[in-house]
Amino acid sequence: MNRTAQSSVEVLRSMFGDACQTDVALARYTAARVGGVAEVLVFVNSVDELAQASQQLWALDVPFLVLGGGSNVLVSDRGVREVVLINRAREIEIDTTVDPPVVWAGSGANFGSLARRVASYGLSGLEWAAGIPGTIGGAVFGNAGAHGGDVAGTLKMAEILHRDGTRDSYSVGEMGFEYRSSRLKREKMNAVVLAASFRLATGDPLLVQKKMEDYAEFRHRTQPPGASMGSMFKNPLGDYAGRLIEAVGLKGARVGNAEISTLHANFFINHGDATASDVFELISVARKAVMQKFNLALELEIELLGDFPPLD
Ligand SMILES: Cc1cc2nc3c(=O)[nH]c(=O)nc-3n(C[C@H](O)[C@H](O)[C@H](O)COP(=O)(O)OP(=O)(O)OC[C@H]3O[C@@H](n4cnc5c(N)ncnc54)[C@H](O)[C@@H]3O)c2cc1C
Repeated sequence: MNRTAQSSVEVLRSMFGDACQTDVALARYTAARVGGVAEVLVFVNSVDELAQASQQLWALDVPFLVLGGGSNVLVSDRGVREVVLINRAREIEIDTTVDPPVVWAGSGANFGSLARRVASYGLSGLEWAAGIPGTIGGAVFGNAGAHGGDVAGTLKMAEILHRDGTRDSYSVGEMGFEYRSSRLKREKMNAVVLAASFRLATGDPLLVQKKMEDYAEFRHRTQPPGASMGSMFKNPLGDYAGRLIEAVGLKGARVGNAEISTLHANFFINHGDATASDVFELISVARKAVMQKFNLALELEIELLGDFPPLD
């Protein structure tokens, strides 16, 4: 660890005590259960802590990244050089006194739990998100979506902290959402999602529950269980990445203990001790085969964190 990183650890230790840990394997903080070591990892337990830790690291000029559920990332076997903030800013406030009702959540709140919680109040609008395993921050960053809904269609405001210490409330337009993308993701902005609010509607509690159950049943039927990152590639316009990978005969293909799911070819499963290199090799194999047969370059939906060879 270099001296700057060492001094940042000392500062973070004085701020966060045991919440600051060193040499932590990231596999247990990712949905795919894959990934090497972070030299420094800090758990932040509130929106204020997330803001404080971010500002402290920016002030020290120490690069960092925020990890939510780790459900949309492949972390290199060699880990990451940045300090990792594990986001547990899980505050939630539901306001039914305004019309339409609004839910505000810290960016470390789990999106699926939030969706189920507002549904339990008979509030409609986030049913589509009930099966998303990551956090609000990750969902806003990547414009998560499912079953015809997405963050862009339901967000009211995202609270963004910038490196210069300013805070903005970004509207949907200001977030620059595109399919599974936002300005923050595309422009690699030096910014952190602190919290977000979503517009809801007063619904029929039974219908809201029924919709969520139908979506859950659909997921259960069409998506494999097990450790994965969800969809590996974005769907190309007018087609499905899963269909293309299946069409090149790669369903069930394996490298080590990583497998292209036999149920849904856009899901890559870690059957036990798969490494990031195994998964990356499968990514390369799938991209090459689809390029050869369809002359189409599949674009990753997930993010690669740490060192990987260039994708050709
Ligand atoms: C089984 C399974 C099913 C899935 N189904 C879906 C689905 O239906 N639809 C869908 O869209 N996705 C789906 N996903 C992918 C994933 O759950 C979503 O993309 C989710 O929104 C990612 O959130 P996260 O907290 O896990 O992000 P992470 O994986 O932790 O992070 C992803 C990126 O966001 C950045 N980030 C995270 N939090 C912040 C923050 N607070 N501020 C700034 N940057 C931040 C990270 O630095 C990283 O670059 C699925 C994944 C799995 C494993």
